[in-house]
Amino acid sequence: MKRIAVLTSGGDAPGMNAAIRAVVRTGLDKRWAVFGVRHGYTGLIGDNFLGLGARDVGGIIQQGGTILGSSRCPEFETEGGRIKALRALQQHDIDALFIIGGNGSQAGAYELSKMGYPVVGIASTIDNDLYGSDMTIGVDTALNIALEAIDRLKITASSHQRAFVVEVMGRNCGYLALMAGIAGGAEFVVIPEIKTEPETIAARLRADYRKGKAHAIVVVAEGAHYNAERLWHYFDEHHERLGFELRVTILGHVQRGGAPSAFDRLLGTRMGAAATEHLARAEHGVMVGLTNGQILATPLAEVAANKKQLDMSLLELARALNK
Ligand code: ATP
Repeated sequence: MKRIAVLTSGGDAPGMNAAIRAVVRTGLDKRWAVFGVRHGYTGLIGDNFLGLGARDVGGIIQQGGTILGSSRCPEFETEGGRIKALRALQQHDIDALFIIGGNGSQAGAYELSKMGYPVVGIASTIDNDLYGSDMTIGVDTALNIALEAIDRLKITASSHQRAFVVEVMGRNCGYLALMAGIAGGAEFVVIPEIKTEPETIAARLRADYRKGKAHAIVVVAEGAHYNAERLWHYFDEHHERLGFELRVTILGHVQRGGAPSAFDRLLGTRMGAAATEHLARAEHGVMVGLTNGQILATPLAEVAANKKQLDMSLLELARALNK
């Protein structure tokens, strides 16, 4: 009988619980013993394991966050840390590990697999910046939360003829900001991939007001050179010249906490189930992700070596739609 463990690492993402549940229940179906590791790589190094049965993952599919807890663990980035982690896995006789997380977490998974340990990654981050998955677990829910905020701000912006800046998460990737901007009908989108000067934004907003627009929404990615705070300072300092005052809303962690959408529950479930199937066929050292609508595995070496590119034609689309 195989003994497997599952952990969640990095930023929490809505839908991680669906993936945990699917790993546990499809693992039990295969008559494996299943364990959870608390708080990601920190729990691996600190020997924080718990047995998981079918009932332990009941009533969690609709919950945001992760029942196992997550963490950022600098110690795991050192060889010493990873040796401690391997020792803990061996002490518990665990045959393989499932790692649910984003870029950094999958880089860690790759390091473990290079040490000869069987791992299967599951693509999960709200940033959607992970090579090997068109959409990652949590993106859809985070996007919908951003949209709800933008829709509400639009109403108040129209009433007061004000310009609102909404900062969304996404680390150094502009995906969430761009998609929220397009789906929310924003006047301007600022992403890290392209440096945008505040003067350009001000000129665009002035032109929009001349066209008779009642509101202006600028969606900014947190990783942009001019993030919401810097933009606010710039507009405040050059208020006379730019002729605008900005109202700033930073969504921050509010974006993570929502109940997972149907899409994220299904994505987490499909990826979790596919991950145990891969291990059953002795296919490890891979990450499962969504590619062209199918759940497919990509070697972790490829995931770690490649950077996902943002489709820049979507930025053109956002520009073209603001008339
Ligand atoms: P998100 O982007 O959604 O927050 P993530 O998985 O990219 O998720 P990170 O904070 O980048 O989040 O990484 C999570 C953890 O993975 C780190 O705290 C560290 O323990 C481990 N990790 C990151 N990079 C490496 C690496 N190069 N080698 C080994 N472990 C790593």
